[in-house]
Amino acid sequence: MQRRQAYIDVFRCDGAPDCPPRDNCPAGAIFREGEEGPYFVAPECRGCGRCIPFCNLKAITLL
Ligand code: SF4
Repeated sequence: MQRRQAYIDVFRCDGAPDCPPRDNCPAGAIFREGEEGPYFVAPECRGCGRCIPFCNLKAITLL
């Protein structure tokens, strides 16, 4: 069975320095390169879905 993984829509993510989904990810899988730009999901994502309700821009979905 294929493992589920979070996906961040880079057109919705505003790349704010304060990112509750990142802060509440138990795998530390939400990151970005440098200090600006949207966040991405690393392969370490466990597909738990915990980050989703923390994103008030609704930029995260589970695929
Ligand atoms: S689905 Fe779970 S492991 Fe994956 S990015 Fe969201 S909180 Fe982290």
